[in-house]
Amino acid sequence: MAIIRIINAHILDVVQGSLLPKQCLSIKDGYIQAIGDNLPDESADITLDAAGRVVMPGLCDAHVHITAGTPDFVALRHWPPSYVAAHAKGILESMLMRGFTTVRDAGGADFGYARAIDEGLLVGPRLLFCGHALSQTGGHGDMRHPGDNQADHCFCCAGLGKVCDGVTEVRRACRDEIRKGAHQIKLMVSGGVASPTDRITSTQFAEDEIRAAVEEAEAANIYVMAHAYTNRAIMRALNSGVRSIEHGNLIESDGIELLKQKNAYLVPTLATYDQLALKGVEAGMPEALQKKVYSVLDAGLQALEAAWHGKANIVFGTDLLGSMHNAQLKEFAIRGEIIPPTELIQSATVKAAELFNLSGEIGTLAEGYRADLLMVEGNPLDDIGVLQQPERYLKVIMKDGRIYKNKL
Ligand code: ZN
Ligand code: ZN
Repeated sequence: MAIIRIINAHILDVVQGSLLPKQCLSIKDGYIQAIGDNLPDESADITLDAAGRVVMPGLCDAHVHITAGTPDFVALRHWPPSYVAAHAKGILESMLMRGFTTVRDAGGADFGYARAIDEGLLVGPRLLFCGHALSQTGGHGDMRHPGDNQADHCFCCAGLGKVCDGVTEVRRACRDEIRKGAHQIKLMVSGGVASPTDRITSTQFAEDEIRAAVEEAEAANIYVMAHAYTNRAIMRALNSGVRSIEHGNLIESDGIELLKQKNAYLVPTLATYDQLALKGVEAGMPEALQKKVYSVLDAGLQALEAAWHGKANIVFGTDLLGSMHNAQLKEFAIRGEIIPPTELIQSATVKAAELFNLSGEIGTLAEGYRADLLMVEGNPLDDIGVLQQPERYLKVIMKDGRIYKNKL
């Protein structure tokens, strides 16, 4: 692989929230080999002169669905995998072009996508997948309408969800996803928006089922992420060993305390509620479900504010569906009302890496880390807005030492 040198860079130190001026980076075999202000003048295959621009780690999105080509999950059930993959191609490429070099899929993506990306058949961010999101009967992953009595236990709507009930079935489902290479297990432990029959306020899965999933995940040295809205569902999940709480719109102060006590993470996904409220129906979401959106939208912002003031671990996530994926960077703008740029950037880099158990590999620019980086015009520590217009401000996008965009 080519040796790449980046010179005259202002390196964004995401941990300190500061810029290190006039740095040089040497990249070899996909990794950062050296970084400093006085590197020996070795020959390189490619030299990029940053000319004082900011170089920062690539972004992470901890909650995506690359197979959600439409927000209508009931319709998605009838899409063949080939058509789902055709949609995913554009979704993945656009994510990388927005500066996301790692994404964690919360249901739908499998090892085929991850392998295709690694092999260069698909262009996209590094993909951490869970396979199917696991749901109880009548839960957030059960896409049957109330009139549907088909006893089908695999609702492979674009691979998004799988229904399992009881400790034995939950264990089998977890083991099966682990067999297929899952980086994390995803459980639906409360009601949701895009599912036809459940209530937002319901808890899902019995505690012994959640604990069984956590035990299976831990046996494989991975962890459980759980879709949960209400404080009640969040407390049950945390007490059962779940590491990553998705959405968390209705979390309360005791939930935030428990989150900290367990050293767990909150992954709010505010962009999706914003988009579903603005254009969900237009994008194909059934009108009856839109009412559910409003009940969680305002609460989501309040939850973020409470979690921020409570000093919880907060990670960047979006959960966008279909054509609404292009609002991925709006999450920064929405959270920016509450959270300052440095901590916003941390939530999408170093904090995300911590959650993914990839500290030491991604999320920071340092020797031995993967060469996932962005060269940015302007300083995101002063104005997070420069990350929201990638066409204009992102000059270079690199993942694993490969250049995917170069507008120098
Ligand atoms: Zn969810
Ligand atoms: Zn989701």
